[in-house]
Amino acid sequence: MSVGFQLIEKKFDVVIIGAGILGVCIGYLLSRTFEGKILVLERESAPAVHTSSRNTGVIHRPFYIDPDKKKLSAESAQKSYFLWLELARKFGLPWNPVGTLEIATTEEDVKALDRYEKWATSNGMKPDEFAIMDDLDLRNYDDRLNGYGAILSKTDASVSFGNFTRKIMDLALEEGIQFIPDFTVKRIDEDGSTVNIAGVLGGESIQITADFLFNVAGGESLRLAHQLGLARKYAVLHFRGDYWTLGDSFKIAIRHNLYSVPRHKKFPFLDPHLIIRHDGSMEIGPNAALVSGPYAYGKHVSGLSLAGKIFERPVYPKFKLISNPEFISLVRSEWKSSHSKEHMATRVRQFLPSLEDTHLGGRGISGIRNSLVDNNGFVAEAVIEKGQNSIHILNYNSPGATGAPAFAAYVIKLASSSGFMNLDKRKADSDHGVWAGLSVD
Ligand SMILES: Cc1cc2nc3c(=O)[nH]c(=O)nc-3n(C[C@H](O)[C@H](O)[C@H](O)COP(=O)(O)OP(=O)(O)OC[C@H]3O[C@@H](n4cnc5c(N)ncnc54)[C@H](O)[C@@H]3O)c2cc1C
Repeated sequence: MSVGFQLIEKKFDVVIIGAGILGVCIGYLLSRTFEGKILVLERESAPAVHTSSRNTGVIHRPFYIDPDKKKLSAESAQKSYFLWLELARKFGLPWNPVGTLEIATTEEDVKALDRYEKWATSNGMKPDEFAIMDDLDLRNYDDRLNGYGAILSKTDASVSFGNFTRKIMDLALEEGIQFIPDFTVKRIDEDGSTVNIAGVLGGESIQITADFLFNVAGGESLRLAHQLGLARKYAVLHFRGDYWTLGDSFKIAIRHNLYSVPRHKKFPFLDPHLIIRHDGSMEIGPNAALVSGPYAYGKHVSGLSLAGKIFERPVYPKFKLISNPEFISLVRSEWKSSHSKEHMATRVRQFLPSLEDTHLGGRGISGIRNSLVDNNGFVAEAVIEKGQNSIHILNYNSPGATGAPAFAAYVIKLASSSGFMNLDKRKADSDHGVWAGLSVD
């Protein structure tokens, strides 16, 4: 990848903070449709160093997304599936069409399967893309699995979202956008029709101005939005998802990703899955261990830094949560799964009883989920906040990597329809390049 490390100009039409999968998709789509000067700023030395590479790697089909409560996520995932497939085909990127089997491990969970069947159809999946199984069907399908029923989503695929992001960044660079790695944005403010961005590059303080800003800084986007007085009612909590690899002793041929119906829907605690990665290797995870920040990948977390996080303003939404015994008991259990592979294996044995502790190898790569909370608890959907000349994307969580191209198009449309971007700078022959099939209606 060729990048321009020299920051000669200091004034841009559009600045994007964050070269995660969302920032890079926004940059690429803008580069195809907009004449102006576009700059992507990234604190790391390459794109997709954080959550956009450190995830489960599943292109999620939207059978499990409530189309009323999470319309934007559902639509973005559905539209983007075809866009990622197109990219993978065109550039020979890995696409492992493993499918996902989501299992009801209690009688109560069977009701969720009925909802999934309706949602799959409402969200645009074709009837031959999924199948509902009762307990007998499940046993006949694979007698090593335990459950009251399941949904098989046949078109879920395992990919490397890191690879996807880097490929899109290459295409955007070819279109002339500028990318400055190792640039940490410290402060932003808006002043009439200009956004001021202050940051540090190679130890030097630098000031940049832009007509328009997209803040897609993942775990730091709320902190930056707060600097403009936006999204004040929200606080952010960080949850680390750890994975354990399955060693060579695990010889059972599993055909699909195995998930169980999530038990605690109010909280971001998924029950762990068994996943088949894009290269065919297998892992179990992720759990959701409460940590002190968006880059807290180390095994040990100091109580002091966690307490500091809790006391960051606004404090009330977090206090409300930590006084909830159900939340605290889940936090404890999730921590156990980070430290003990036996604990993680016990959770997976609910639907795969033949998994033994000895099948597990070492730790896989961990990823951090940045979850917004307000006075009503965890916020379910992504949050889009508008400043005078800026858009801020907060709480952009799973299936965020799956939905990124269509979500990026939506955000750009929102920016231009609100009069934020200078329409004179639209490219006369604009199209969506490798994503020619993308509709932004
Ligand atoms: C454990 C886990 C598993 C997941 N599994 C899946 C899955 O299977 N399928 C799926 O679709 N989604 C999944 N997701 C969700 C998905 O990974 C995220 O929604 C997506 O990667 C978010 O992308 P992003 O670009 O918003 O954030 P990020 O990837 O975090 O990018 C933000 C970027 O901003 C940069 N940045 C931050 N602050 C600054 C600053 N001050 N200055 C400059 N740069 C800055 C960061 O370095 C980073 O590169 C998972 C998430 C987790 C945590």
